[in-house]
Amino acid sequence: MSALPAAGLPSHWHPATGRVLPGEAVIFDLDGVLADAMHRQHFLHREEPDWRGFYGGVDADGVIEAGRALAAAMRHDVRIVILTGRIDEVAATTREWLVGNGLRWDLLVCRPPDEDDSSRHAVDYKRDEVARLREWGIDPVLAIDDNRKIVEMYAEFDIPGVYFPSGYYDSSSRYDGGV
Ligand SMILES: [Mg+2]
Repeated sequence: MSALPAAGLPSHWHPATGRVLPGEAVIFDLDGVLADAMHRQHFLHREEPDWRGFYGGVDADGVIEAGRALAAAMRHDVRIVILTGRIDEVAATTREWLVGNGLRWDLLVCRPPDEDDSSRHAVDYKRDEVARLREWGIDPVLAIDDNRKIVEMYAEFDIPGVYFPSGYYDSSSRYDGGV
C-alpha cells in the first residue's frame, strides 16, 4: 500500500515519520488520555476560558501511564492517530512532548490554524476530522476519548468509542468544549 505524500497532507496534520499509510487506525485523544493536563484545567474553569494560559503549559504535562500503555498495546499494523483539540500553534511543542515521552503515534491532528480561537465545539471539529481521515483512506476502527460527547459522536461513524475517565468533565466547570 502506497504512503500518502506528506506534502499533500492538510497543514494541521503532522505525521511522525513524514508520511502516513492508509489503512486501519485507532484514534486517541491527547489531553486526559495520554497527557495529564490537570494542572492546566483551571485556565478553562473561568467565566472566560484563558486559552493562552491553557496552551502555554502543555510542555509541562505529565504522561498518563494507562494511556501510554494502551497505545503501546495496539496491533502493530494499525496507525495511531492522535486527534486533539489543541490549536495547531502548539503542534511542534506537542510533537516534541510525544517523542520525548516515548509515546507510540503515527499522526498528530490539531485544530486547523483558522480555528485557533477554539470557538468551535470539539465535537464538531473532531467529526470533520474523522470524515477527512476517511477521505484519505485512513479507517478508524476504534476511538478513545475522555469527553463523553465525543465518544458518542464516534457512533455516527459506526466507530466504537471508548470512554477514558480523566475527571476533567466531572467538575463544576463551565466549559465542556473538550480538548
Ligand atoms: Mg481530552
